[in-house]
Amino acid sequence: MKLSGSFATASALLAFAMVTACMTPTAQLEDSARARNFIAAHEATVRPLEKQSSLAWWEANISGKDEAFKAKEEAQNQLDAALANAQRFAELKALKVSPLTDPRLRRQIDVLYLAYLEKQVDPELLKRMTAKANAIEKAFNVFRARIDGRELTDSEVRKVLKESTDSARRRAVWEASKEVGSVVERDLKELVALRNEAARKLGFKDFHAMQLALNEQSQEQVLKLFDELDALTREPFRLAKAEIDGVLARQCGVRVEELRPWHYHDPFFQESPAIFEVNLDTVYAQVDILKLCREYYSGIGLPIEDVIARSSLYEQPGKSPHAFCTDIDREGDVRVLANIVPNHYWMGTMLHELGHAVYSSKNIPRTVPYVLRDAAHILTTEGVAMMFERAANSADWLGKMGVSVPDPRAFNESGAKMLRNRLLIFSRWCQVMFRFEKAMYANPGQDLNKLWWDLVEQYQMVRRPEGRNAPDYASKIHVVSAPAYYHNYMMGELFASQVHHTIARQVLKAPPSDAIYVGKPEVGAFMRDRVFAPGRTLPWNELTQFATGEPLNAKAFAADFQGRR
Ligand SMILES: [Zn+2]
Repeated sequence: MKLSGSFATASALLAFAMVTACMTPTAQLEDSARARNFIAAHEATVRPLEKQSSLAWWEANISGKDEAFKAKEEAQNQLDAALANAQRFAELKALKVSPLTDPRLRRQIDVLYLAYLEKQVDPELLKRMTAKANAIEKAFNVFRARIDGRELTDSEVRKVLKESTDSARRRAVWEASKEVGSVVERDLKELVALRNEAARKLGFKDFHAMQLALNEQSQEQVLKLFDELDALTREPFRLAKAEIDGVLARQCGVRVEELRPWHYHDPFFQESPAIFEVNLDTVYAQVDILKLCREYYSGIGLPIEDVIARSSLYEQPGKSPHAFCTDIDREGDVRVLANIVPNHYWMGTMLHELGHAVYSSKNIPRTVPYVLRDAAHILTTEGVAMMFERAANSADWLGKMGVSVPDPRAFNESGAKMLRNRLLIFSRWCQVMFRFEKAMYANPGQDLNKLWWDLVEQYQMVRRPEGRNAPDYASKIHVVSAPAYYHNYMMGELFASQVHHTIARQVLKAPPSDAIYVGKPEVGAFMRDRVFAPGRTLPWNELTQFATGEPLNAKAFAADFQGRR
């Protein structure tokens, strides 16, 4: 079983070897029976709680009502309490090192082990961590950038960064927005210490290593992938950024060498500056997005009528303004929450959410046990959603869907450029986040301000402001609220490209740039057989190998930006 090395301690391995040595077939049978009992008991208690929690979450997001949010929190607490049960975890620990020969049984125990392990944090420590994280999130919520005694809202900050051509004004607003870093710095350092303490008590070297191990990843593995990604996309990124920099410098009347972080359109340069946006919205203003989704997914043999029937797709009072897809019961009750308006953003978003919807218990066979009847990994389901989402930028796709595009060539060129810039810029941002968090948890006492800007210069190629020594890393809320997580989105994009290239090569026998899925049920069949069907029976990298013939790598993603699309 891959990756287990990162959380199996030496003594556990020794115990495993000893147990195996004196194992009789009868004892193995006993182990299998114990494992089956454990799984049955887990399903009896946890399965109803998982369903209750999903329903409560859905209700809260639809209605926005306080009592619904309270019910959601209570359902989550009950679920957490069930997984935190120390006695059950002890039983699981014993099963984890027992020699189960049935691979599906083995896999279920491994998956459950990680789910319970995550909840075994010392309750006193957990309370302190939650309190600290809440205090920081609250500080973020109430913080407003102040300039000349006036407070700016978040959208006012963004508006200046998007529109102002006055470098001094941009700088003042950017610096004011970074002040939140100094407000939360001390608390964040304490939170990092608490998280590390919790991780060490569970046998990990630090919190970052633990988070990855809980998701069946290792730091070395992700680092190797990110090094490859860096090497393959450094030049395309440099070229794309040079073009962007030229425009930004011209707009602000400065030389390119004078560009600093405040010249980009968002506070972290994680998004593409909106300078080449042609209006893809004009085309989508005339389109019935839902109808297009229905026809598209049904045409590739992955119909979504039942999902649509259960979903909440348009704006209503109190409802969450975002979009997500949820599998309520792993028995086919799959729903999407969205707020469709006819524009490019919602076309892409609906293709994305319905991508999650087709990769769910709808298409993972009921023969896969409940515990494994889910996507292989967060990165594989994100990857599938991202792969389908990309079609919204293509006039060829629209044309095949019967939508007339006035100037398809211009639409394709701008659509491809927007996509390329977005992905390249996002990939550099993920490099900074992954490497920063890894290094911060490994050595929280180092000069983190310097570490942050060293990484920004190296990977995002943005020059640090001269003489600045401030905790700018602490102004990113995700360091608090979604630690060690960004890399999964990036790996999802790599997965999207790799699966798409496989479909192009094996199924459609066309170059990746011409491989359009419209009206091709063989694409749906490939997705169902090679990507969805295994559920979680395969860990993410074995699934990638199974689906594409190779472990996850950056080659397909990079090839899309090398001029040999
Ligand atoms: Zn998603």
